Amino acid sequence: MRPATRAVHAGRPPHEPDEPLNVPITMASTYVAGGEREYGRYANPSWTAFEETLGDLEGGRCLAFASGLAAVATVLDLVGHGETVVAPRHAYNGSLMQLADLEARGRVRALLVDIADTDAVVAACADAALVVIESPTNPAMEVAEIATIADAAHAAGARVVVDNTFATPLLQRPLDLGADLVLHSVTKYLAGHSDVVMGALVTRDDELHAVLKGRRDLIGAIPGAFEAWLALRGMRTLGVRVERAQANATELAKRLGEHAAVHEVRYPGFGGMISIVLADAEAADRLTASTSLWVHATSLGGVESTFERRRRWRSEPTTIPEGLVRLSVGIEDVEDLWDDLASALATA
Ligand SMILES: *Cc1c(COP(=O)(O)O)cnc(C)c1O
Repeated sequence: MRPATRAVHAGRPPHEPDEPLNVPITMASTYVAGGEREYGRYANPSWTAFEETLGDLEGGRCLAFASGLAAVATVLDLVGHGETVVAPRHAYNGSLMQLADLEARGRVRALLVDIADTDAVVAACADAALVVIESPTNPAMEVAEIATIADAAHAAGARVVVDNTFATPLLQRPLDLGADLVLHSVTKYLAGHSDVVMGALVTRDDELHAVLKGRRDLIGAIPGAFEAWLALRGMRTLGVRVERAQANATELAKRLGEHAAVHEVRYPGFGGMISIVLADAEAADRLTASTSLWVHATSLGGVESTFERRRRWRSEPTTIPEGLVRLSVGIEDVEDLWDDLASALATA
C-alpha cells in the first residue's frame, strides 16, 4: 500500500467484532506483573500504536520520545568521549545548542559543515563517529545529498542520523537512502495541529533499536499517553495535509519570488516550508506585525500558517540573515494566505 493509505491504516487494532477502530489512550503507570510491559516508563499501548505507524511510514522500528530534543540528546549520547560529530552549520538551533554544550564540556568534538556542500561533508566524514544531517535545514532550507554522505560516513565507520522533520516520510525516506537513524520533532508535521510536543527515532538496526530503547528506559524521556494518542490522530491526515501545504507553498514561493520587497526566496521545491529574506530586521518585523491570518509564532508544521523572524532568537547562527522570515505554510485557501501576505508586504 502507498504511504498516504498506510498513514491512515497502520497501528490499528485487528478487524474483529467489538475491537475499537483506534487504540485507546491507556493511562497506566504500572501493569500486572509477568507480562512484557511491567512499568509505565518502559511501555504504553498508545505509544506502540504511534510507533507502529511512524515505523511503517519510515520503513523501520520507531521509538517515541518526550520531544524532538530528547531524541537528539539520545542520539548524541551514543557518541564516545572525545569522538567527532559532523553536523550542519545551519540546523535547528536547539540541536546545535546541545552539540555546542557537549563540546564546551569536552564530551565530543563538533565539526560544523555546509550540509549542501557534499564534497566538504564527505571530506569531514573521515574522522567522524556520528554524522548528523538535517535536510532541508531549519531555517536556511539547504538540501543534503543523503545517499552520498551516508556512503562516505559508513566507509569511515560513522553512523548517520537524518532529522526528517521538514520533509516528513511522505516526501523523503532517509533509511532507504542509507541513513542508520531518522529523527523527528513529532511536534511539527506529524502531529500537525500545534498542540503536542513529542519526538521520535526510527532505525532498521535491531541492535541499535535495543540500545536506544535501553537509554529511553533509563533516562525516562518518554511521552505521555495522551500526547502519543494526539500525535497518531494527527498523523492519520498527514497525506492530505502535506499535499495541501506543499501545493500552497509552491504557489506562494512563486508569487513571493516576483515581489519587489522580497530579496530572496528559499524553497527547495517540495514541502510546506519557505524562507524569505527581506531588506533587514525592521522590514521583517513590520511584516510579521502586519498580518491578520498568518500568526507570528515559533514552531511549524501545523494546519495553520505561521511565520517567524528567526534572528529574534539570540541562539540562531549569525550567518542566518537578520531579515530572514521562515514561513510554515498551512492548509488554508492559498488566495487568503496570499492576500494577507501581500497586504502585509506592502508595509515591509
Ligand atoms: C522543532 C525541531 C526540533 C526540536 O523538536 P522539539 O519537539 O521542539 O523538541 C528538532 N529538529 C527540527 C528540524 C525542528 O524543527
